[in-house]
Amino acid sequence: MIRRLQCKRWLYFAMVLCLFAVLLAGLIHLAANGAAHVRAMDARQFQAFADGPQGNIGSVYDSRGDLLFSPGQPVDRSVYSLVGSLSPMISNCVVQCFHGDLIGWQDYSLWQGSASLEGTGSDLFLTLDGRTQQAVTALLEGHKVSGLVAACDASTGALLCLASTPAAGSEEDVTTLPDGALLNKNLYPTTAGSTMKIVTTALLIEQAGPEALAAFRCACTGSDTLAADGTAIVCSTRQGEQDIVSALGVSCNVYFANAVEEFLAVDATNEALARCGLAPQQERKDLQMMTYSPSQVTFTDHTFASVWSLLGQVSTVSPLDMLRFTAALFHEGQAPTPYLLAAASSRDHTQLRFQADPDRQAILAPETAQQVTALWAQAYAAYYDTDLYTPYVTVAKTGTAQQGDGQVNKLLLGYSQDLDVVFFLSLENWTAQCGVTPQEVANCLLENLAASD
Ligand SMILES: [Zn+2]
Repeated sequence: MIRRLQCKRWLYFAMVLCLFAVLLAGLIHLAANGAAHVRAMDARQFQAFADGPQGNIGSVYDSRGDLLFSPGQPVDRSVYSLVGSLSPMISNCVVQCFHGDLIGWQDYSLWQGSASLEGTGSDLFLTLDGRTQQAVTALLEGHKVSGLVAACDASTGALLCLASTPAAGSEEDVTTLPDGALLNKNLYPTTAGSTMKIVTTALLIEQAGPEALAAFRCACTGSDTLAADGTAIVCSTRQGEQDIVSALGVSCNVYFANAVEEFLAVDATNEALARCGLAPQQERKDLQMMTYSPSQVTFTDHTFASVWSLLGQVSTVSPLDMLRFTAALFHEGQAPTPYLLAAASSRDHTQLRFQADPDRQAILAPETAQQVTALWAQAYAAYYDTDLYTPYVTVAKTGTAQQGDGQVNKLLLGYSQDLDVVFFLSLENWTAQCGVTPQEVANCLLENLAASD
């Protein structure tokens, strides 16, 4: 009897020992990995862990201090595809990509658990002008036009507007949304149309020199064949003899194709495209914690696809790369890096935790940049109906991108010296029946930005 009791006692002892060992291993695991587990949660999982809709996640504001996002409030449709929400429905957006800052992981403590994260997150301040983005989005949506409207400060690269339509509300049923409503089109490449001729003008000045380019003439008869492969380049604008200013002004494809054949070497062109951030690259480009798809301008020889790439068809460009390139033209060849997060602070706004430090890279010689803007200004003054544009527009270049199905996208690239703002916009499948022109969209953009200045 006594022996059986002793045996049982040993058994109990062993069981208690096992229990302790399991508990200890669990505690060690929690101590070692608890913070990593919390960090691995997405914003919505964290919200559930933190057990409350508010208090533990910071808010997002625009450049005027208007609230764009807070956990308790649905995001406005004009910024939803960019700012996103706690739901991981949109992955490349502010709330998902900056969720570590919004939550403040670094202050997680094992002993206090979720309570240690109460109020630790940061509030984020974007460079975006929310009211301008709202006005531009409303204008496009009011006319049922799909497209993108991008603008940035030409000195700093601060992104002021990244409107994209069709837009969607965060509360809408995903299954009923039109295609592309959850993608911000400014983060994906698009066909540049003749806005690309501004880039090509810079390439021509670099390789031909300003004198040879100014002297180069070409008689356009509406079509020409490329020497390399005998394919036709067609031109539907004003015909007759063109020089660089008139060719830029009326967007003559034949002139530009001839100038590309005459002056542009493959190696030097690819070097310049890479330097300007327009050459193809595999990886997505960083937009702080977010990313955007790079430009893919290919120029391999003097045959159809390569020549057309420099005329704005075939290849695609990133709207952000076009802003960066155009900004450099007006800033002595210095291209600003686009950015969206201006600052982050503690939740009570007493402690600054991050402030963006704008940076620029030299992509063009100052003389080249100056020569391009001089030609552009002449072309705009002589060949554009400037009455269609707000006085805030200093120069603009229109573009038309063929969509292959007979439809066209209308593009506009431009600069406002008064505001020091560059803009790039594309209205998809545009017809005169849309009821809104690229010029009117640019005017809406710049007048709204001016109102906040
Ligand atoms: Zn022509």
